[in-house]
Parts: sequence; C-alpha cells; structure tokens
Amino acid sequence: MSDIKMWGKEPFWGLGYEFDPQWLLTDEQKQLQKTLIELCQTVMRENAVESDRKLLYPRKNFQALAKHGFLGLIAPKELGGLGQNHVAAAMAVETIARYGCPSTAMCYTMHLGAVAAALFRHHDNPALKDILSRLDKDCLVGTLSYSDPETGSHFWYPVSSSAKKVAGGWQVTKKASWTTSGGFADWYIVQTTSPDFGGNYANLSCFLIMGNEVEADPANWDGLGLRGNQSGPLVVNNKTIPEERLVGPINDGANSNDECVDPFFLLCSSACWNGISMAMIDIAKSHTTKKKHVDVGLRVCDYPTIQDYVGEAIIDTNACRLMDFSMAQAMDAATNDCDWSIHKDLSVLPRAQYLSWMWQVKFAAAKNVAHVTDKMLHACGGTGYKPGLGIERYLRDGKAGWVMGPTNEVLRQFVGKYALLGIESLDYWNQAINERAIQNEVKKMTPEQKKTLAQQLMSDAAKAAE
Ligand SMILES: Cc1cc2nc3c(=O)[nH]c(=O)nc-3n(C[C@H](O)[C@H](O)[C@H](O)COP(=O)(O)OP(=O)(O)OC[C@H]3O[C@@H](n4cnc5c(N)ncnc54)[C@H](O)[C@@H]3O)c2cc1C
Repeated sequence: MSDIKMWGKEPFWGLGYEFDPQWLLTDEQKQLQKTLIELCQTVMRENAVESDRKLLYPRKNFQALAKHGFLGLIAPKELGGLGQNHVAAAMAVETIARYGCPSTAMCYTMHLGAVAAALFRHHDNPALKDILSRLDKDCLVGTLSYSDPETGSHFWYPVSSSAKKVAGGWQVTKKASWTTSGGFADWYIVQTTSPDFGGNYANLSCFLIMGNEVEADPANWDGLGLRGNQSGPLVVNNKTIPEERLVGPINDGANSNDECVDPFFLLCSSACWNGISMAMIDIAKSHTTKKKHVDVGLRVCDYPTIQDYVGEAIIDTNACRLMDFSMAQAMDAATNDCDWSIHKDLSVLPRAQYLSWMWQVKFAAAKNVAHVTDKMLHACGGTGYKPGLGIERYLRDGKAGWVMGPTNEVLRQFVGKYALLGIESLDYWNQAINERAIQNEVKKMTPEQKKTLAQQLMSDAAKAAE
C-alpha cells in the first residue's frame, strides 16, 4: 500500500502518515483505515457540517459505515462481524473523528460500547445474538443509556431506575438524563438497579431495550458541540420486556461496567478526542501554509511562534494517542485479540485490571483536546474564529471531552485517591463510612448535642430493625 495519504485523487492536505503510529496496525487494519478515510472524504465530512448546523442525527454516515461492515467491527466473524480487536476500535473512532465527523465518532463510540456489552453476555442469549448478527445488514445502531438525572455525571448510580420480575419477563423503568443517539438508536443497553434490589446500589443489572420502547424528544436536544450526537433525556416507562432481554445474570451490572462499558467507552471516546486534536492540526497546517502577509513576505507558518504551537500540539497529541493504543494493545493481549468466547466463563474479566489506566487515558486525551483546540484557533487567527475553516466547529466538539462522564474532575480524583488511600477509598456507591469525619464532628459537640444525636441514632436504629 502506498504510504502517501490520499484525499480522493489528491495527496491529503493535513499531516501525512509520518505523524501517525501506523506500525501499530495490521495490513487489514490499514486497509480498513483507508476505507474509512475514503468514506470521510466522500460522505462523512460534508454531512458533519450539516449535522452541526441543523442538529441532525448522522444516520446517513451510519448507513455508509454499515455498507462496509463497521457496525460489526468487533463482532466475531461467526456472527457476521469483522472480528477486529481493541486497536481497530480505537483506530476507527479516531479516523472518523479526524477526517469525517466527530458527532458520528461519538455515536459510534457509544455503539461500540453497547456492542461490547452485548457480546460480553451473548453466548446463551438469542435476543442479543439476533441483534449482533444483523448489525450491518439492517444498519442497527446501538447505544448506552446510563446517566441519571439525580446523580449527574456519577452515571454508575441509577437512583431513578428500577426493574422487577413479572410473568414472562421484566418490567423496566429507566430515566436517563443524557443518551447519545437518544431517540435514533435501534437498540439500547440500559442499566438499572436489579430486580432483587434491596437498597444496595452496587446491585445493578443491564437490559436490552428496543428503539420503539423508549420515549425521547430529540427536538429538545441542543448543545455547544457534537450537535449531531443527539444526547438528550430518555425514558423507559414501565415497559414489560421478555425474559431474554436481561443482559447477563442479575447483578452483573458492575462487572459489565468494569469489563466492557468503561474500557470501550474510555478507549474509544479518548480516540475521538485525539482524532479531533489531529483534525485541528491538519486544518492549521493547511491554513497557515497558504495564508500570506504581503508586508513582510511571510506565510503564517513561517513564524516560529506558529511552528512552536504546531510542534507542541503534535507531540502532546501523539503522547495521548500512544497511551490509548498502548492500552488497546494491552487489552488485545489480555483477551486473545478480543476473543469474546473467553466470556463463556462469566468470571473472566481481563479488561477490568486496566481500569485505572483507562481513566488516565481519557483524562489525558480530554485535557489535551481542550488545549490543542485553543492553540490551533490561535494559530489560525480570526479566520479560525469563523465557521468556514472548520476550526470553530472542532473546537466546540472538543469541549465535550472534559465534561463527559467520567468527568476529568472525577477521574483525576479517582487516580489520586487510589494512589494515596487505596482502591477501596473510591467508594462508588457511597457505602464506606468515614470514621475520621464522624469522630472529628462529634468532638466539636457539647454534651447536650451529643445526647440529642445519640437519641436520634437510637430511634433510627430501632426503626431500621423493625
Ligand atoms: C456530548 C455528550 C454526550 C453524552 N452521552 C451520554 C450517553 O450516551 N450516555 C450516558 O449515559 N451519558 C451521556 N452523557 C452524560 C455524561 O456522561 C454526564 O453524565 C453528564 O455530562 C453530566 O452532566 P451534569 O450537568 O449532570 O454534571 P454534574 O454531575 O452536575 O457535574 C458538575 C460538575 O461537578 C463535578 N463533579 C461531579 N462529581 C464530582 C466529584 N465526585 N468530585 C469532584 N467534582 C465532581 C463535575 O466534574 C463537573 O465539573 C453525555 C454528555 C455529553 C456532554
């Protein structure tokens, strides 16, 4: 394969392969990447502008992806998929974000997360097998619906959702504050408290919900960037669904999060932020090498300041890309190249060991994209501030990185707390008691206040014991 990156019949106008970690890809993956760049050039990049302007869901881009088998990228060949691995997933999302459409890249990230959650537990589940075997043939877009209006970015804590056992199946209630592809996806993986929930929010279960079973109001969606991703609120209103729509056993939610949803979301969303960073550098190269200042006889790219901006952006972004691809390779090695048959044994959770690394990957990529988008705007000057160049749209899209859950505030705290106080200190479901804080507060009380508190606690304990 030629090592000149092409854009249609012309050499690509941004950075060439010499700045891409091509050595990480197999020949088949390089071919997939080439196909994706062609799809971006012919279909997706133009649709991205329309999606952004009209808040339009990028269904047309998904149809183009499905024609080439990308909806089943990580599904095994026996289910009609391409049987690809984690490196391919990161490459595909990064390529779509960089050369085509970041909104599509984010919807595709959520699709891959949903596919991973379904593949994880498809082995003896006919409903999941049916969907997974028709992903490309019927262009079936999936997504993840987790975030709860009451707990915000703590998306692992679904207090407004529930499930209960009924004759012939489950009755599921889900209130989600944000769901990418909400109202447009053909199928959803949703997480609720388990049917046997007794107050312990770590007891979570996942369900497969079909497009016609959700209530969404896409007309109300609006956002700074990723405007095609349609991440609005969504409700599953007491729907009764068949038995086989439970994804995995009851109480499998935390395992599903640690082994599939989080690893794939963090891997692919980081690839999306890295793709946006590269896209901005591509545009900055194209613009600054053309724009001239006649008074001094220099192009913008001739100023050392601009060269420094671009050099630093490439170095920082490639550090983030290598971090993401390195974790993809680690997960490939741990899963026999993303072989889903290892999960026939429900206790096999090899990706989960890398979770704290995946937090670091997402933090770094989302922090970097915010910086790179600012600097590339600066490099392009006032022209970049206007929509024509595309810098302005990518800048808005990139701003989603930091705030998407797990947010960068939460992630840096997770990593710091884990390092300083141990993994159990993270206390996702607010269960660990902070004895130090209790002792400290009680110390401040008068004897009378202590007595009142003691009486209240005795009364609470008596009620709880009834
Ligand atoms: C474009 C986009 C697409 C999305 N798609 C999906 C999707 O497909 N599925 C889905 O389930 N969700 C999705 N989300 C939702 C996302 O994951 C978060 O749930 C959402 O952004 C939270 O918004 P909030 O206003 O509730 O933030 P809040 O939770 O109210 O956060 C406000 C601030 O508090 C900080 N904060 C919160 N907790 C802590 C803490 N413990 N320590 C320190 N600081 C803290 C936050 O970092 C932030 O700075 C999407 C979000 C965006 C922006």
